[in-house]
Amino acid sequence: MTEHGITRVGVIGAGQMGGGIAQIAATSGFQAILYDEHGGAVDRCKATHDKLLSRADEKGKISAEDAEATKARITFAEDLNELGDTQIVIEAVVEDAGVKCEVFNQLARVTGEGTILASNTSSISITEIGAAADAAHAGAARRTIGMHFFYPVPVMQLVEVINGLATAPEVTGRVIELAGSMGKTAVPANDQAGFVSNRVLMPMINEAFYAWMAGVAEPEHIDSIMKLGCNFPMGPLRLADFIGLDTCAHIMDVLAEGLNSERYRPCPKLRQLVTAGRLGNKTRWGVFDYREG
Ligand code: NAD
Repeated sequence: MTEHGITRVGVIGAGQMGGGIAQIAATSGFQAILYDEHGGAVDRCKATHDKLLSRADEKGKISAEDAEATKARITFAEDLNELGDTQIVIEAVVEDAGVKCEVFNQLARVTGEGTILASNTSSISITEIGAAADAAHAGAARRTIGMHFFYPVPVMQLVEVINGLATAPEVTGRVIELAGSMGKTAVPANDQAGFVSNRVLMPMINEAFYAWMAGVAEPEHIDSIMKLGCNFPMGPLRLADFIGLDTCAHIMDVLAEGLNSERYRPCPKLRQLVTAGRLGNKTRWGVFDYREG
């Protein structure tokens, strides 16, 4: 056991992020216990793990034995209570403050004082989530923290670590060490709307929608200019499709409210696509059309 003292990692939410977090935890030698309230999500997550690990085996990145051992380190809980004997739970459910607060309220009741309660939220206040945990168990806000992984989790290097107002420094230190044990680089940020990553990235994406709406250039030209001129690996509008246009609009609203400025509101063009159900990769049509292959 390393200094962070963590061997068992609970993950709530078996979607794109939670599945990836459980996978890298298991690949790094931790026991990962995943819980999702939807059986369908669990089945999809298992299938993704099988596919990714057998692909890694085929490419010679991991031996067949290691792939099997990694899979065996991921188990699925039937109930949130089964996460009680973990040293950290990382929550990755939908980006909805009410749902997250309810999950943390439950977590504070089923875990002991030694369990860190981490959220993978992209924008929601860790202080607010910590207060919901504290309401169920006094002192739980001290062990509540943001652990913001990026998609796709196995590939992206950064974990943005966000301290809520009450987060204990010892908890921050353990989470930074844990991220290192998972092969990631942790960088701390304080608890303000959008933290650092989305406070800087999302207004740029939003501005790309304004440039499109104003007729400055067509979407593919906006993306080409930013890729070739700024050395971005992906243009801002393609990236918006990748993240999800609904998520982008939601984060801009969180910024507008949290930073108390209307200049952060989602561009009408972005809102219009969300209203039309064009959400990006997940609906195979957003700014760009992916329906034909
Ligand atoms: P997703 O929709 O793929 O997965 C969410 C999962 O949570 C679903 O499987 C759903 O069944 C489950 N869930 C919902 N409510 C639950 C509950 N009460 N208890 C248990 N399970 C529940 O979403 P995602 O893209 O994996 O995002 C999850 C979180 O990660 C969000 O907070 C999001 O902002 C954050 N995040 C997303 C990205 C990204 O690029 N997608 C990047 C960084 C952070």
